[in-house]
Amino acid sequence: MENKRAIETTCIQGGWNPGNGEPRQLPIYQSTTFKYTSSEAMGKLFDLEAEGYFYTRLQNPTNDAVAAKICEMEGGAAAMLTSSGQAANFFAVINLCSAGDHVVSSATIYGGTSNLLTVTLKRFGIEVTLVDPDAPEEELAKAFQPNTKCVFAETVANPALVVLDIEKFVRLAHSHGVPLIIDNTFATPINCRPIEWGADIVTHSTTKYMDGHGMTVGGCIVDSGNFDWEAYADKFPGLTTPDESYHGIIYTKRFGKGAFITKATAQLMRDLGAIQSPQNAFLLNAGLESLHLRMPRHCQNALAVAQYLKGREDVAWVKYPGLEGDKYYALAQKYMPNGTCGVISFGLKGGRQAASAFMDKLQVASIATHVADARTCVLHPASHTHRQLNDEQLIEAGVDPAMIRYSVGIENVQDLIADITQALD
Ligand SMILES: *Cc1c(COP(=O)(O)O)cnc(C)c1O
Repeated sequence: MENKRAIETTCIQGGWNPGNGEPRQLPIYQSTTFKYTSSEAMGKLFDLEAEGYFYTRLQNPTNDAVAAKICEMEGGAAAMLTSSGQAANFFAVINLCSAGDHVVSSATIYGGTSNLLTVTLKRFGIEVTLVDPDAPEEELAKAFQPNTKCVFAETVANPALVVLDIEKFVRLAHSHGVPLIIDNTFATPINCRPIEWGADIVTHSTTKYMDGHGMTVGGCIVDSGNFDWEAYADKFPGLTTPDESYHGIIYTKRFGKGAFITKATAQLMRDLGAIQSPQNAFLLNAGLESLHLRMPRHCQNALAVAQYLKGREDVAWVKYPGLEGDKYYALAQKYMPNGTCGVISFGLKGGRQAASAFMDKLQVASIATHVADARTCVLHPASHTHRQLNDEQLIEAGVDPAMIRYSVGIENVQDLIADITQALD
C-alpha cells in the first residue's frame, strides 16, 4: 500500500488496485462463501495459518478493500468494517476489556455510545468512569484504576461540539499503559488524523460523512499498530496469551501490527457477526470517493451559517468550533486547521418551545435523526437522540436542553440562510 500519496488520491484510488483486465470499479463480492480446491487449504484458514476468505460473517473482499482505503486515509496499520458505528465502538472496547475491567471515557460523547458504555457494557461487568475532557491532566489521572484497559473519546463530540485535546489524552492513556481509542466520525480523516497525534485506535460511524448520502449504516475500526501490547502483557492477555479457540495462537506474536484487528475479526466477528454487507461497503466506497470534496464545503457552509446565527438577536448562543470566539476555537485550529465538521448547534432565546416551532418552519433543512449528510438536517437532541437522559445528564453530556443541532449540508449556503431567516422571523 502506498502510504505517501495525498489523501485526495487515496479517497479515489485507495483499497482497490485492479490488475490487468480486472474491473476498474470495486466489485461487490455478493457471496456468503468462498471455494477451495483442497480440504487442507480450507483447514488452514480456520487455523488462521493462511490468509483468505471462507465466510462473509467474518470477512469479505469488498469490505476489506474499503477498510484498506479508510486505513490508508487514517494512516493506520490494519482496519475492518463493521455493520454500524455502534458495532465499531463496541468491538473496539470489548476487544480489550472483559468483565471486571474498566474504561475511562470522555463524558461528552454520542448518546448511543454513552448508552453502550454506561448501560450495556455495565451489564457485561465492564465499568466506565466518565470524565470532563476539559479537566486538567492531574484531575483526569484520578479516573484511572489498576483495571483500566482503555481511554475513549471523540475528536469533535456529537452533539456537544467539544474538541478533544488529543495530545493530552494520549499522554494520559500512555502514562497509564493503555491505548487511546478515538471516535473520529465528525472530523473524518480529511480534517483530522488522530493517529498522527498519537492515538492508538480510531473508530468511525461511516454512516455519517464517509457515506455522506444517508444510504448506508456502517462503521470502521482502524488500528495504528503502534500500541505495544506486549509491554503491558498482563493487562491485555487476550492479545498476548494463547487463544485456545484457534489452537493456541498468540495474536501479537503471529500478527504483529495486525494483532488487534485480527483478534477482533477472528473472535468478535466470528462470535457476534456484526459485519457490514458488501453492498453497503460498495456504497460507502462511492461516498468516500468524494469525501475530500465534500468536507471543505460542509465546513465553509457551516461557518457562514454560524456567523449568520451569531448576528441574530433571537439566537441566545451558537457553538461551532470553527467560529472565532468559540470555546474550542484554539484547539480546533491546532488539530483541524482546515475545518472541523459541518455540524453546528445553537439555542434560541425562546428555549425548548421556540426550538420546536423553528424546526417546524424550516423548508430546506429537514427534521431527521441523522447528521453529517449531504442534505442539511436538523434535530433537537433533548426531544430526539438524547431523550433518555434527564436535564442533569444532558448538561453533563454537554447538551443544553434548548440545543438545536443543525447539520449543514452541501447545498447553496444562501438558500440555507434564507431558510433559517424565514423560520426565525
Ligand atoms: C452516529 C454516531 C455513532 C453511531 O454510529 P451508527 O452508525 O449510527 O451506529 C457513533 N459515534 C458517533 C460520533 C456518531 O455520530
